[in-house]
Amino acid sequence: MRLSRSLIPTIKETPAEAQIVSHRLMLRAGMIRQQSAGIYAWLPSGLRVLHNIANIVRAEQARAGAQEILMPTIQSADLWRESGRYDAYGPEMLRIRDRHDREMLYGPTNEEMLTAIMRESVQSYRDLPQMLYQIQWKFRDEVRPRFGVLRGREFYMKDGYSFDLDYAAAVSSYRRMMLSYMRIFRTMGVRAIPMRADTGPIGGDLSHEFHILAPTGESGVFYDKAFESIDLGNDTYNYDTQADLDAFFDQMTTLYAATDEKHDTEAWAKIPESDRREGRGIEVGQIFYFGTKYSEKMGFSVVGPDGARIHPEMGSYGIGVSRLTGAIIEASHDDAGIIWPDAVAPFRAAILNLRQGDATTDKLCEDLYARLGDAALYDDRDARAGEKFADADLMGHPWQLIVGPRGAAKNQVELKRRHTGERAELSLEDALAKVL
Ligand code: ATP
Ligand code: MG
Ligand code: MG
Ligand code: MG
Repeated sequence: MRLSRSLIPTIKETPAEAQIVSHRLMLRAGMIRQQSAGIYAWLPSGLRVLHNIANIVRAEQARAGAQEILMPTIQSADLWRESGRYDAYGPEMLRIRDRHDREMLYGPTNEEMLTAIMRESVQSYRDLPQMLYQIQWKFRDEVRPRFGVLRGREFYMKDGYSFDLDYAAAVSSYRRMMLSYMRIFRTMGVRAIPMRADTGPIGGDLSHEFHILAPTGESGVFYDKAFESIDLGNDTYNYDTQADLDAFFDQMTTLYAATDEKHDTEAWAKIPESDRREGRGIEVGQIFYFGTKYSEKMGFSVVGPDGARIHPEMGSYGIGVSRLTGAIIEASHDDAGIIWPDAVAPFRAAILNLRQGDATTDKLCEDLYARLGDAALYDDRDARAGEKFADADLMGHPWQLIVGPRGAAKNQVELKRRHTGERAELSLEDALAKVL
């Protein structure tokens, strides 16, 4: 993209309404604009990050054998009466009436809807197991929407659901999703720790939350310091080998890690004091096993091998896709702005033309831009060098290709790595080889 023709409205001043760094930086970098409390419009660079995160989720969910679907945001209240959650959910649910006075709602989650779809579509044990997910907008009328996209009212969530014939198979699905989630977070370039967690309004008896450590996190977390260094998405494990899934699960759950709601002071006391870590975490995902809670209440059963009907065992699996954009910034920024991990950055590189209008400089910049294409944001504005440097640091591109008339005359560019601040004078080809 050419910055001169893009809607990336960066702001120099600190926005007064933003209390935490990710909210400030997302506004200042021109990624989002608030429309109502907790409701945001995503501008071009913000949307690119949102899509990058969603696509990392898609690729790893496919490897784990999950199928993507898309369900509507608006649901019928009757569905939720079947599970008993219409009244139980409380004021967080946005309730709507259509012109025929029918009660509808904007979905906060989709266990009921997918159970109803499965009830119509699947009749035999031969059709199971199934693992399905969507990436779709949710609405929860949070009491205190705050911290920008970290606690929005409308937010983008990946929600997945598993259907298995028995407990052992359901636990296997749960473990497969845990492995998939750990790989998703690792690919994004963030460290998220799996923690024993409460099940809340989804219900059930087994649950883990995934937390990115940050002082601004809303959850208190307790964990073994080993989680700060171990490889959390180990590549040696195979999704289709039960022993691998079990070994992975043991590795993730033997070390202590729990949110304040599930904190076990007795178990904690047994850990050597020098290994204990206490801090704050941002919940970026949660997985649940809840057995037949929904399949029984909603009358979903399949015919088993012996002709008897079986209520499938279910689990559900969420990732806060829009929350992650903010959470990654909380974990990766400095005083100058965002430091995007390569995998989620809106642009891999910015091309900074320091002398717009100088024929040699323009030519080299255009050459770079032609080679990098959509991976680059070309700062071709008629602006001071200082402004271009500041905006590039603010927006957080992993690489900056800085082109001035002196370098351009020698076919050289200055390549800056945002993460380290390192700079090097390189030929156009050598610089491109590093960036691509
Ligand atoms: P929280 O404890 O922060 O209220 P939750 O436990 O209610 O979240 P889940 O039902 O577990 O949320 O939903 C799955 C994921 O969706 C969460 O792990 C989180 O990443 C994301 N999420 C939930 N609520 C919001 C929100 N209001 N804004 C942005 N993301 C959210
Ligand atoms: Mg909540
Ligand atoms: Mg929670
Ligand atoms: Mg949760």
